[in-house]
This record gives sequence, C-alpha cells and structure tokens, in this order.
Amino acid sequence: MRLKIFCCPYCVRGKRFGTIAAMNIHIGKQHIVDYKIFMKNNKPYIKRNLPRASGAYIKEVTPMN
Ligand SMILES: [Zn+2]
Repeated sequence: MRLKIFCCPYCVRGKRFGTIAAMNIHIGKQHIVDYKIFMKNNKPYIKRNLPRASGAYIKEVTPMN
C-alpha cells in the first residue's frame, strides 16, 4: 500500500497531509476558501463553488520509502 502525501497549495512551505480529508479540514480552517478538493482520475483536484470556474490539479508527493 502506497502512502500518498498531499501538499496544501496555500501554505508557503507546502504543509503536507496523508489524506485528502485531512487537507480539506486544514484548508477549511486555515484558509477561507470557496471550493472543495476531491479525487479526479486518482489525483487531487480543486473545484470552486462557482458556476463557470475551472478546476486544477494540486501537487502530490509520493515518498520513496
Ligand atoms: Zn495550508
């Protein structure tokens, strides 16, 4: 089983989390945002809560060990 670590795209130093859920909680508390992060094509994806907003993939890091 691979351990995936997701980087917060809003922390300057890229605070990392082991799960999407943990990162969503962090972003909701630390960064006031109007979108959600979910998995798309097995990659973390940001989608804004706006009608015509486009999403974007965020950085994903898989440790070697
Ligand atoms: Zn953050």
